[in-house]
Amino acid sequence: MSTILETRDLVKEFGGLTATDDVNLQIQDGELLSLIGPNGAGKSTLINLITRMLEETSGDILFEGESITDLEPHEVVQRGVGKSFQTASIFPDLSVEENANIASLGAEHGSFRFNFLRHRDSYPEVAERTRDVLDAVELLPQKDVTAADLPYGDKRRLEIGIALASEPSLLLMDEPTAGMSPEETQETVDLIERVQEEMGLTILLVEHDMEIVFSISDRIAVLHQGDIIARGTPEEVQGDPDVQEAYLGG
Ligand code: ADP
Ligand code: MG
Repeated sequence: MSTILETRDLVKEFGGLTATDDVNLQIQDGELLSLIGPNGAGKSTLINLITRMLEETSGDILFEGESITDLEPHEVVQRGVGKSFQTASIFPDLSVEENANIASLGAEHGSFRFNFLRHRDSYPEVAERTRDVLDAVELLPQKDVTAADLPYGDKRRLEIGIALASEPSLLLMDEPTAGMSPEETQETVDLIERVQEEMGLTILLVEHDMEIVFSISDRIAVLHQGDIIARGTPEEVQGDPDVQEAYLGG
């Protein structure tokens, strides 16, 4: 297995607070790696550093062997790093299909996205991508529904679909089941497993539900006060005394 993403001594300070402290994380091609840790551990900071929404204090991030720290967020997306956003990337007044079209067009043509709504017939490849994405997240039957009218779980699936439109090889997900009912959570977990398998995706998942994490992950990394204190298979991490003490409550 090869490493798709690697952070090297990655440090992010906010004023006097060190949110990530010399983090060395490797994500292997094709795996589902979960990042866990208590509130404030630095999980979202790490994700936002990878997407370049945040500038690091020091250290480096390599994607497919090349440093991405000099890239803009949209360039990182073009390289193949997608993110399903915790806060909405959805246009509420547009339909499910129009939202997917905008994401597909952004992926195919960069910045011409808004013209697309007026010239959609000239972009067959975009329509095809939209269909694939909506099919993957099982929203084809709802394609004409206004996004604002979707139930909460479907909105989150649309967000995952929007992230998939750029055909990422690495998908970052920051608490994708936050705020979901148990049924929606289970559907989303099934969806994540299915897209990982069918699309050959590598996934970095931040998830607070330990039952989900231990059932879905190939490997787990435990972040505590900006430090990775343990990593390994679910069994290895569950049995780690440092993790028991710092996180799983003895
Ligand atoms: P997690 O996602 O694991 O809950 P975060 O990465 O959001 O943790 O936060 C890590 C630490 O960095 C916390 O102490 C948080 O308060 C702090 N932090 C996060 N973002 C900022 C910011 N933009 N400005 C100042 N402090 C921040
Ligand atoms: Mg967070």
